[in-house]
Amino acid sequence: MAFFNPINWLLGLFSLDIGIDLGTANTLVNVRGKGIVINEPSWVTIDKRSRRPLAIGMAAKEMVGRTPKNVIAVRPLHDGVISEFDITQIMLEYFIGRVHEQSVVPLPKPRVVIGIPAGVTEVEKRAVYDAAMAAGARQAFLLEEPIAAALGAGLPIGETRGSMVVDIGGGTTEVAVMSMSGVVASRSLRVAGDEMDQDIIQYLRNKYNLLIGQGIAEKIKMVLGSAFPLEKEKTMEVRGRNLVTGLPETVEVSSIEIREALANSVQVIVDTVRDALDEIPPAIIGDLMDLGVCLAGGGALLQGLDRRLTEDIRLRTWVAEDPLTCVARGTGMIYEDFEDLSSYLVGLERGGRNA
Ligand code: ADP
Ligand code: MG
Repeated sequence: MAFFNPINWLLGLFSLDIGIDLGTANTLVNVRGKGIVINEPSWVTIDKRSRRPLAIGMAAKEMVGRTPKNVIAVRPLHDGVISEFDITQIMLEYFIGRVHEQSVVPLPKPRVVIGIPAGVTEVEKRAVYDAAMAAGARQAFLLEEPIAAALGAGLPIGETRGSMVVDIGGGTTEVAVMSMSGVVASRSLRVAGDEMDQDIIQYLRNKYNLLIGQGIAEKIKMVLGSAFPLEKEKTMEVRGRNLVTGLPETVEVSSIEIREALANSVQVIVDTVRDALDEIPPAIIGDLMDLGVCLAGGGALLQGLDRRLTEDIRLRTWVAEDPLTCVARGTGMIYEDFEDLSSYLVGLERGGRNA
């Protein structure tokens, strides 16, 4: 148990402790004592000439596919890592600033725990740390996302027993097997939600000559997408442009077709999970037969994915409660017992004030 430290306690009363899930698709901010106060798409729209941001988050995502020539819409993270540093910083600054504004009394700069994919390079880690500091953090700590997701999902990762998380986000699928507070085996795959959207676009183009945007594709995936036959198959009307005539067209699409469209990506995810399982010691396989495999991230919501994995890998696979917020909740949990749980934080090699 941690000793009671009156100085930390006092600081905690007067400063903000926040956990951030800086995702390729969504950014969430979890404030200690309040919960998740920001949950917005990781999009920024920018004026091309002045390079100034026009909209951030939900407001920016709504503009995607509709922007005039002088405006570009950017997702500053790619495959889980920062690809546009300045824009990431602007986005973080805006979100952290909004949290600050919500407090009645002026507060000192916040402490921030921020998720990073497992196995990223030192440079990529440093970029996240620097972006958080530049965005106004007093201290920034890094936490590997599978650990954060596991904490958020309530898995017993501090125990000797092994546990497994498959986090399917926008850009990447992260598979990790953990035991005794560490990652035993992990896989990172660049097939996840975005790729599924592309699969749907491609499928409708090939089959119906129908051109649709990514936003519509994502909606189709959420409504019709599945990885296992549905009890009751569904259909929906999809609007797009016919590539041959150039005219608007509506096509009725079924969940059976969309399952076919997604089949390859789903198979790649299943194979990667299998591949990770091949690598782990039998004792941990035994643990997983009790605990099962936990699905997190937005992709976990693809209908029937749990069932499909359960059949294919012969381990009970289950979806975490509220899978989209697991990482954000996990980053926030570090503050509940900072002395003990800070052992999960990742250090930077040189110079950082991390941990
Ligand atoms: P990231 O961590 O990369 O920001 P998230 O965990 O927020 O990603 O998940 C976002 C992805 O989850 C998106 O590709 C989104 O389309 C997908 N997603 C969200 N809800 C569903 C759903 N009901 N069915 C299938 N995919 C979904
Ligand atoms: Mg994520």
